[in-house]
Amino acid sequence: MRCFTASFGAETNTFSPMLTSREGYRERLHVGPGEHPEQPTLYAAPLWVARQRKKTHGWDVVEGSCFAANPAGNTVKADYEAMRDTILDELRAALPVDFVLLGLHGAQVADGYDDCEGDLLARVRTIVGPTVPVGVELDPHCHLTQKRVAAADVIICYKEFPHTDSIERAEELADIVSAQAAGKVKPVMSVFDMRMLNGFPTSRQPMRGFVDKIMGLEGKDGVLSISVAHGFAFGDVPEVGARMLVVTDDRKEFGDALAEKLGRELWDLRHELKPPGLPIDAALDRAVSRNQGTVVVADGADNPGGGAGGDSTFILRRMIERGITEAALGPIWDPIAVRMCFNAGEGTRFNLRFGGKVAVTSGQPIDATVTVTKLVRNATQTFGREVRAVGDAAAIDVDGIAVVLITNRIQALGTDLFTNLGIDLAQRRVVVVKSTNHFFAAFGPMAEEVLYTDAPGPLPRDVRTLPYTKLTRPKWPFDENPWG
Ligand SMILES: [Zn+2]
Repeated sequence: MRCFTASFGAETNTFSPMLTSREGYRERLHVGPGEHPEQPTLYAAPLWVARQRKKTHGWDVVEGSCFAANPAGNTVKADYEAMRDTILDELRAALPVDFVLLGLHGAQVADGYDDCEGDLLARVRTIVGPTVPVGVELDPHCHLTQKRVAAADVIICYKEFPHTDSIERAEELADIVSAQAAGKVKPVMSVFDMRMLNGFPTSRQPMRGFVDKIMGLEGKDGVLSISVAHGFAFGDVPEVGARMLVVTDDRKEFGDALAEKLGRELWDLRHELKPPGLPIDAALDRAVSRNQGTVVVADGADNPGGGAGGDSTFILRRMIERGITEAALGPIWDPIAVRMCFNAGEGTRFNLRFGGKVAVTSGQPIDATVTVTKLVRNATQTFGREVRAVGDAAAIDVDGIAVVLITNRIQALGTDLFTNLGIDLAQRRVVVVKSTNHFFAAFGPMAEEVLYTDAPGPLPRDVRTLPYTKLTRPKWPFDENPWG
């Protein structure tokens, strides 16, 4: 079995003020054939699995390039086209192949391309022809467009949010696509548009139970795979929204009916899927009223993992004003402040201005007398099996609040974001994280309670406040009954 595999991913927040150039990919993952690190990375899980199959199944694996950027605004057109064409040239050079496995994000937008993955996959299909199986793994925060469904044979999304299962899903993709290449199965995809924008964290009910349920349906009645494409509400593209995807072994009608049935079940649960958001002061009231343990408060509106600046100061300002101590907050993306802390040195107390720089949605900077408690060059944090760079980092104490300042814009993923900088979270009553839900995998188990705030920011909980121009209606919550 000869397989070509490559990866290309960016989650594009089209409302973000920060564009993504090739530099943004170099910051996260930008490697040529054979250069992918040995440890797995989120979007390139299919490549990592193909490497294992080379050892266990004797696959002849041709690796292409892997490009991934941290979430931000549109990818610059020329850079998108150049990286895309690099992968396509590598595929042409690899022919003939028995199948193709690609790890993509699914919500990548470039100037002039609302559907980057659809564009890439249509070109891949033209190159390999109609009969070579093309399998794709996507982040569930994707736009599951008709173009990409038409161009690929099998699409599988991660089931978990936090995304802890990219390897398992890539293994399923490898199983199904290689079986197709061997003539053992004939995958067909069925898609149902749920006509809504919503959040689907699987760390809580009812989504937890729903994911367990669909996993129980796989492997029976010819059902090969079921994915919930959550959609990515912060990408203003025509086909933004949640979709149900069922892959069957040549049972199109059955798959269509199952996709609709499951999609309508989630539609009926739409008001319960996203956790309630508390205003900042209500969240802080609740957090400090606890007498034991640590309360984790999520600032999803300023989540760098959704394309935000990660430097907003609204919650921190209220914590300082209220005199909340034994607290921690992070990360705040502010490379200039980090540099000033390194200049000051560990143990130094000085006046620092930090945060509140990227956009109006970041709020005003904080001016405070701070103590530099720890400095780490090239700091990291872990997310599942992945080690993610946060760059040079500084921990400062602001009136009893430990704040982590970082150089690489990234959300809070692992508790080691704090502990690597000498902050013991067990000693903190309140821990505020810049993250929508990925934090939950590591911070959930240590938290007495997890709260979600309704702070201002570029990823508002009420998406009706965003200036969409391309979104297709009717769609909930813009339209109360898009089926009427
Ligand atoms: Zn995602």
